[in-house]
Order: sequence, then C-alpha cells, then structure tokens
Amino acid sequence: MNRVYNFSAGPSMLPLPVLERAQKDLVNYQGVGSSVMEMSHRSKPYEAIIENAEAKLRKIMNIPDDYAVLFLQGGASMQFSAIPMNLARQGDTMDYAVTGNFANKAMQEGARWGKAKAVSSSKEDGYHHIPKITADMLDKDAAFLHITGNNTIFGTTYHTLPEHGDIPLVADWSSAILGKEIDVAAHDLIYAGAQKNMGIAGLTVVIIKKALLERELDPIVPTMLRYRIAADNGSMYNTPPCFAIYMAGLVFDYLDEIGGIAVQEKENRRKAELLYSVLDASPVFKNPVAAEDRSITNVTFFLPSAEETTAFLAMAEGRGMTNLKGHKVAGGCRASLYNGMPYAGVEALVQCIRDFENGLRK
Ligand SMILES: *Cc1c(COP(=O)(O)O)cnc(C)c1O
Repeated sequence: MNRVYNFSAGPSMLPLPVLERAQKDLVNYQGVGSSVMEMSHRSKPYEAIIENAEAKLRKIMNIPDDYAVLFLQGGASMQFSAIPMNLARQGDTMDYAVTGNFANKAMQEGARWGKAKAVSSSKEDGYHHIPKITADMLDKDAAFLHITGNNTIFGTTYHTLPEHGDIPLVADWSSAILGKEIDVAAHDLIYAGAQKNMGIAGLTVVIIKKALLERELDPIVPTMLRYRIAADNGSMYNTPPCFAIYMAGLVFDYLDEIGGIAVQEKENRRKAELLYSVLDASPVFKNPVAAEDRSITNVTFFLPSAEETTAFLAMAEGRGMTNLKGHKVAGGCRASLYNGMPYAGVEALVQCIRDFENGLRK
C-alpha cells in the first residue's frame, strides 16, 4: 500500500484505522445488508450511528449537558452567516478579532447583518501573532466576540482564550478541534468544519450553549439556518450529511479508544516540536510566527526565494510528501499536522528539510 504523507490543510489525512474500519463496513454495514450511504436517515441502524457520534463527541470533548451538539452542512463558511443571524438582531453590534483570512471572511458576513467591528487585528505584521484582547476593548452592547481559535493559513493559535466579560464567546476551531483539549465550558459557541481534523467534508459541527437557542430571531432568518430548528430535530430537520456523520463517529470512536484527546494532543505536540525545532535551527528555512502564538496543527515556513520554494516542494513530492505548498494568500510552505499525520511523516519532512539545506535536490 503506497499512501503518501499528505500535509494538506483540508481535506486531510485520516487515521488509518478509521479508513480501514470504513472499508470493512462499506458495502454491507454490520450485516444490515446495505452501506451507510444507502440507508434511510430515519432507519434504526442510522439512528444508532448518529446517536453514537454525538455521545462519543460529548465524551471525548467533555461537553457539558447544557450545550447542544448540532451536525450541520454548508461548511464553517456557512456559520459565518448563521452565527450573526442566531445570536444578533439585524443592526446589532458584533465584535471580531481579525487574525487572518477566515476571521476576515467571518467579519464580512457579519457586516451583512449588523455592525461588525474589528476589536483587534494582526494584519500589520502579516497575521504573525495573536493580539491580546481584554474585556474593556469590547463594545458593551456587542452580541458576541468572534475569534478564530486556530488560524489555518497563517499558523497562529490562541493558547489562552481572550477576556470577554459578559459578552458571549464564539470560536471557529475548524483546524484544531480534537487536536488539543478545548475547554467547551469557556465558550458559548464552538464551530468547526469536519474536513480538517474531525472527518470528511460535508459536515460542520456546532456546539452551542442551550440558553442561546431560546432567543427570538428576526423573522427573515431562514429555517435551515436556525440552530433551534436543528436542535429540536436532532440535526435531522432535513436529510443530514449521513456518511460524513458516520465517518466523524469513527474518528470519535478512535480517539476514545486511544485514550482521548489528551493522548492525541501529546503526540501532536511532539510532532510540532520536532518541526519547529528544525526550522528554528535552520539557516535556510524560516518560520515567522511569534513563538508564543504558534499553532500545533498548521506550521508555516518560508525559503529565501520562489525558485528554492518550488525546488523544495518538488523534492518533497518526489519523496511522497504532498500538499506542502502554502495557501495563496500567505505563500511559502505549510505543513498541516492533524491527528491523521503520523510522527514518521514529520520525521520524513524534517529529513527532507535537512537534505535540502545540505544541497540535495531530490
Ligand atoms: C477551512 C476553514 C474554514 C472554511 O471551512 P469550510 O468548511 O470550507 O467552509 C473556516 N475557518 C477555518 C479556521 C478553517 O480552517
């Protein structure tokens, strides 16, 4: 079996045991006589699948009972619109921490609905750090403070959450969820597209404090964007992304079996430390991110010229390491070290970096 080390920011590598499990069940799911893809979402076996997925996610993330878990579609990007519509009335003020491309996109969607304000921005330094936020910086009438917990494109992350006083805290944890322990109770709403670290594309998970579901919404808010509707219908107001929920459930099972997110986080930190230590010692490769704000799931790095970048990417590709090219708005290179990336993949990358420094080109 020739599987590459895929460093893509998403969709990305899944743990091999998860893929093997899905393969085993693909054509005939546990003797039911059909695949999960062919099952009614109202059938008994499917009910068990979605119930297990929610229960396991609650277990591994330690989600308190006063939070609802919603399995939605439309990607994290759909939530950029849904969050203002569910947490604010039209024209209300909303605070945004602008720490990168997705943070900007979220704020732009907020601006369609109300007064979206940037409380802080790291644009000046190319989004290479996370500006500190204190409660006094927030608008006292803000419907929420929105942060991007992990900035997938620029490789920064919040290691401690901002102060937010009484203002609800909303966080896009798309690219770090399940990769490290996240204190759900310290948030009012967490959301994440599944294709980064939770499973496959097509599923978006929203974890929301139940009290926030009781708000009266502007009548214009579409039924399909109302969290209350999703919650009241067990995420099955309409056909849910059945297979993507099943795959996420397998990922949750896997994390539970290996001992939980703490165990995975330790491994992820080991991977990130290996790569950062080699980059920091390198005379050729540079990582521009403030050391205290470095992401453990997305690591950016740069070579001195476009020619060298192209040569390095080709060399890595030749050795079975794919998708190391940085996002087009950031340039350079980026290695995404999600849960599915084994330590051996990072060792291979580090070897490639050292060989390149020593003049090798393949
Ligand atoms: C990938 C990503 C998004 C966009 O996700 P989609 O599911 O493609 O809409 C949003 N925010 C962050 C932090 C991401 O990494």
